Amino acid sequence: MTDIVLEATRLTKNYNSFRALDGVSFVLRRGEILGLLGPNGAGKTTTLRMLVDIIRPDEGSVRVMGKPIEEAKDRLAYLPEERGLYPKGRILETLVYFAELKGVARKVAELKAREWLERLGLGQHIKSRAEQLSKGMQQKVQLIGALLHDPDILLLDEPFSGLDPLNTQIIEEVMKDLRKQGKALLLSTHLMHQAEDLCDRVVMLNHGRLVLEGSVLEVRQRFSDQSLFVEVDEPLDGLHGVAEVRRHERGCRLFLQSHVTPQQILAELVHRNITVRRFEIYTPPLEEIFIKVASGSLSTDSSNGLTSVAP
Ligand code: ATP
Repeated sequence: MTDIVLEATRLTKNYNSFRALDGVSFVLRRGEILGLLGPNGAGKTTTLRMLVDIIRPDEGSVRVMGKPIEEAKDRLAYLPEERGLYPKGRILETLVYFAELKGVARKVAELKAREWLERLGLGQHIKSRAEQLSKGMQQKVQLIGALLHDPDILLLDEPFSGLDPLNTQIIEEVMKDLRKQGKALLLSTHLMHQAEDLCDRVVMLNHGRLVLEGSVLEVRQRFSDQSLFVEVDEPLDGLHGVAEVRRHERGCRLFLQSHVTPQQILAELVHRNITVRRFEIYTPPLEEIFIKVASGSLSTDSSNGLTSVAP
């Protein structure tokens, strides 16, 4: 059986003459968290809305569990960026109502809703009205609402916006648990450090096109340049083949001249009898890659349509 639970193929969307999405394809697999990244206006929300059939693509298709999206919507849950609970609605009642709409028996819905409310620290708010809850609390309630019908796929648009660090951690744990259970999660986020910690793979959009795709490590390695990160106890001046030394808080970054290999530098450090605490090929954090993408310092690789960093 294939692991692919969602397949987006050549999604294209125009708003009048403006092309918001241009031939975007990717897959989502069982048991993974996929990060949907990209600058403001890149097309992330447009993509998510197409995946749940809120808007239709002008071209391309979405298949869920091997079926057209229209036939498999119940396997998906979507947590949109702009959230809203009916202000006067009581929390438990609202959750049970929405779960029933999705075919969950009332008793089951109530039991699961209570369990989730306890787990997410909202046990004392079961009878509260939505308007009595803070923004972050309401967000957690909506996440619970998305989970009660036990979907296979969860699409989350900026799920951490407005959450404090503790609640962020709680939601991260929930996401990891769901992954462990074999659910597939697609997460749109601007928080690159979080994408790095949480996502197995990422896709990055820019101006409506897919510009990067791969595991977090693959993407970071693809962008690694001729530089090393080293931690040593003494100053590193006058190393042969090093064009620049940039000091960081915990070590320094060495930019090598083009003919020099990392092995040669390591050999020289050993030869000088310098104690090396850390020595690695520098792989930039996603944040740095994101900024390169967003600022446009990328060149298009015509062979696969994806982009790579300009040397
Ligand atoms: P953000 O990170 O700011 O939420 P995003 O990546 O989610 O951005 P989208 O909301 O998908 O971006 O928008 C992609 C582009 O399509 C933007 O240029 C936006 O202005 C445009 N757009 C989105 N919805 C509409 C609409 N209903 N009518 C016209 N243009 C739209």
